[in-house]
Amino acid sequence: LLINVKDFLVRNGLLTLSVFAVATGCTMGFLLRGTQLSTQAKIYFSFPGELLMRMLKMLILPLITSSLMSGLSSMESKACCRMGVLTVTYYLWTTFIAVVVGIVLVIIIKPGVGTDMESHRLGGGPVMTSADALIDLIRNMVPSNLIEATFQQYKTDLIPILKVPARTVQPNFVYVFPDEKDPKGRTVYLELTPPPDVTYKTSPGTSQQMNVLGIVIFSATMGLLLGRMGERGAPLVNVCQCINECVMKIINAAVWYFPFGIIFLVAGKILDMQDPSTLGKKLGWYGITVLAGLFVHGLILLPFFYFILTKKNPFTYIRGLLQALVIALATSSSSATLPITMKCLLENCHVDRQIARFVLPVGATINMDGTALYEAVAAIFIAQVNDYELDFGQLVTISITATAASIGAAGIPQAGLVTMVIVLTSVGLPPDDITLIVAIDWILDRFRTMINVLGDALAAGIIGHLCRKDFPLSGAGKAVPSYGT
Ligand code: ASP
Repeated sequence: LLINVKDFLVRNGLLTLSVFAVATGCTMGFLLRGTQLSTQAKIYFSFPGELLMRMLKMLILPLITSSLMSGLSSMESKACCRMGVLTVTYYLWTTFIAVVVGIVLVIIIKPGVGTDMESHRLGGGPVMTSADALIDLIRNMVPSNLIEATFQQYKTDLIPILKVPARTVQPNFVYVFPDEKDPKGRTVYLELTPPPDVTYKTSPGTSQQMNVLGIVIFSATMGLLLGRMGERGAPLVNVCQCINECVMKIINAAVWYFPFGIIFLVAGKILDMQDPSTLGKKLGWYGITVLAGLFVHGLILLPFFYFILTKKNPFTYIRGLLQALVIALATSSSSATLPITMKCLLENCHVDRQIARFVLPVGATINMDGTALYEAVAAIFIAQVNDYELDFGQLVTISITATAASIGAAGIPQAGLVTMVIVLTSVGLPPDDITLIVAIDWILDRFRTMINVLGDALAAGIIGHLCRKDFPLSGAGKAVPSYGT
């Protein structure tokens, strides 16, 4: 056994280093929590981690555009259509199943029933409605300006009416104040620690995240059209193929920096974390419910679907994805993990290139099983804390809005926390109560991002198998000698 373990570690050098980096980051973070580091020192300390995030984000745009344009241009219309319909149907189905798993668990475990937590009704009017969210989703599908789409996404932002005293610069936090800068010219973010002295109003605003959905739709349309143009489209297809190959080469080189970046990314987050002993019992049970749901969905149901549909061993396939899962854990962003997921699928899981180039970018944008599950659990948890009985109709509403909210969430850290307001308002729960769960959201975010990434990757394997006649090269799930490097 020892020889086997050693052999595995040697063959999976990069993966081993990444896991080691997560452990080192946790240890370092906890050790340094005892010391009183200044905010400035923390910013310097987190810098290698920030660089890692920047590298990953830098690759998203060229990867998505070149993948979709070159991938779809070489497909037959019929094969394309079949793959598109199968992918979207599978994504919606699994997201809905995830929501149901969450609802069943939270109803059985009842984490919100008890007395150690009170609702923070701040009296602020409800914020984002389901209609707002739907309109935002459609708005994002049609970017008015493509260049702008690479750095902005329309989002019915939670715009604070009152000024909030607690201002911190957190590069990946979702509550962005687009027009405000701190004295050093950095963007100002709102750190929500309960109870925030703030109420919100709805306003269609812009956030500084890339509009990935708009870019996916535009690139896919271009890819389809280029394929129909034959010779005339060939030069652009060649350029896209070239860019795609270069991006994959950059990824291959950059991955060696990742373990180093992961250490500081994880340690920096732990340094900022609220003291766990101040968290109540209910919050603990809520966390356990979400994690149990993610476990059941990600490690039992999704692999089961994979097995039923492909008749292959899902865990052999998942082994090939470990590197991407560690990056998802470290970055809390499925979009930022996309380059590594692509690398793992192509190199370790041997999914057909054309399938991976379509299924992954679309999945990173609309398929978030982990987020949907968490949104449903969180909404019902908040109802339990408020002693609010939900009838069957309201549970159905939660399941639909949680599915929609996860589709609308961007693949960035804690995006689900924002879109959850839609789920809460749909059944009349106070949106301010997201502050009840904010303290442990950053950690749950890491695990739900892993399941989001896993869901996309397993989907690619399944779609690859179902469309194998259209794409004869597809060999998802074959065991290969080496993983992670
Ligand atoms: N962080 C998640 C992701 O990137 C989204 C969320 O649930 O907040 O997939």
